[in-house]
Order: sequence, then C-alpha cells, then structure tokens
Amino acid sequence: MCIFCKIVEGEIPSNKILENDEFIAFHDLYPKAPIHILVIPKQHVDCFQDVSAQTMAAMTPFIQELATLTGIDKSGYRLIVNNGDDGGQEVHHLHFHVLGGAKLPFGHLVDEPHKSL
Ligand code: AMP
Repeated sequence: MCIFCKIVEGEIPSNKILENDEFIAFHDLYPKAPIHILVIPKQHVDCFQDVSAQTMAAMTPFIQELATLTGIDKSGYRLIVNNGDDGGQEVHHLHFHVLGGAKLPFGHLVDEPHKSL
C-alpha cells in the first residue's frame, strides 16, 4: 500500500483540512510556501497521466472549496502536479500541490535548449 493510501486508511497520521467521499486535503509535511496543501483522490491513481476525466471533474470544485476555506481564493494560488520521473513525482499516488499565502516566484527550471516537437 502506498504512503498516501495509508493516510486515506488512517494508518499514517495527517493534518487534514478538508475531506469528502472522494478526496482528502492535508498539509504537506515539508511546506514550500506559507500554505502548502496536498489534494489526493481516496482511490489510488498512480499519476495524472492515469486519472479519469470524471475524477478530475469532481476534484475541481473540491480544490475551489479548499481555496475558499483557507482564504486564498481571492489572493491567488498555484496548482502543481508532478507527473512521472521527469516531472519529479516522488509519491506515486496522484496529488495536487496547492500553494499560496505569498507571492510565489516563478523561474525557468532547466538550462536546456527548447526542444522542437
Ligand atoms: P511529489 O514530489 O510531487 O511526489 O510530492 C510529494 C510531496 O509529498 C512532497 O511535497 C512531500 O513533502 C509530501 N509528503 C510526503 N510524505 C508526506 C506525508 N506523510 N504527509 C504529508 N506530506 C507528505
């Protein structure tokens, strides 16, 4: 069982903020912003590449409600999904990072020439 499935099952503690039948939002253990929350589906999905459109449709209002609840709906926030190895995904259970509470920097990530597709 993966680490986030253990959080869903209550085998590992988490600092939960919002929950419904399908999703849980909890504080990231190593926050990278004043607000850094992870949103996961309760049902295991490895990564964004595997998630259904139906789950994503249901996750949208959940994240919007979370933003309102935590007071970042108006000030703004950033959603990040790391997908797979090149995306830097470390936990292989789909999760959205919800980051906010400060003006977040944005910079280039790699010193590689642009790849023509
Ligand atoms: P990613 O690199 O996108 O897979 O992000 C995984 C995130 O999960 C990281 O930001 C970690 O800090 C976070 N994380 C790992 N274990 C836990 C945990 N037990 N509770 C909360 N956050 C966690």
